[in-house]
Amino acid sequence: MFGAVEAGGTKFVLAVGHGHDAIVAQTQIPTTTPAETLARAIGWFQQQGAVAALGIASFGPVDLDPASPSWGHVTDTPKAGWSQTNVAARLGDAIGCPVGFDTDVNGAAIGEYLHGAARGCDVAIYVTVGTGIGGGAVIGGHTVKGVRHPEMGHVMLQRHPQDRDFAGACPVHGDCLEGLASGPAIKARWGASLSELPADHVAHDVIADYLAQFCQTLIALYSPQRIIMGGGVMQTSGLLDRVRDKASARAGRYFGVDASTIIMPPGLGTGAGIAGAFALAGRALHGER
Ligand code: ZN
Repeated sequence: MFGAVEAGGTKFVLAVGHGHDAIVAQTQIPTTTPAETLARAIGWFQQQGAVAALGIASFGPVDLDPASPSWGHVTDTPKAGWSQTNVAARLGDAIGCPVGFDTDVNGAAIGEYLHGAARGCDVAIYVTVGTGIGGGAVIGGHTVKGVRHPEMGHVMLQRHPQDRDFAGACPVHGDCLEGLASGPAIKARWGASLSELPADHVAHDVIADYLAQFCQTLIALYSPQRIIMGGGVMQTSGLLDRVRDKASARAGRYFGVDASTIIMPPGLGTGAGIAGAFALAGRALHGER
């Protein structure tokens, strides 16, 4: 049996089982302080019986370098109290098993690659649009890590003509993608979530345009066979279709693909992250961090 953790900024999803489609028990706990949250997670796992390995898909930034002394840590995060928290070792040591560790979006990307909408794709990107915007890339079955890991939500875009005045909500870059199209950025200039705004409100066009520009950027950089778009904002009725239409119109045929045919919702719904965490556990059992 494996353990799986989807460690988010607002909640931790915990599961034990033989894989994403053979979950024996699952629960979720709110993300409070590291001490309290990790103690509750450890307590829950200890009640479930022995696990052979644990997989953790975590909010970040995180250290993914296996040679680094801070591998498995959440590093310099704006999330209060969590900077330099050694999530992987604190859970792995207490539970007594090897740990696989990656970002939340890399985990979701692996989950979709193995079991969801990106099955069989050599290059696939998973994007979440919610409280923040992030993306994970799987290439040849491996997630892209590099210096740290991609921070896809912080790319810069052309401003929409009807969205010139908003300075942007990213504390670092202002009007990067996350600063323009995340849930908090939408609320900051229109006072409501996208799904609460009427269907003819300009916000729908503005946000779809930014996400379509982002899809064009991803296609230009990675030539992905799938771009999978999840997260709370993407639950907005009609948004995925608007993004598809705009990406198709913007990108044209230049990239050898109609963008609308590769942009998909998650095949695993909200279960992509925990599916990826199970995959990380399986890899950890074979010595892969
Ligand atoms: Zn930014």
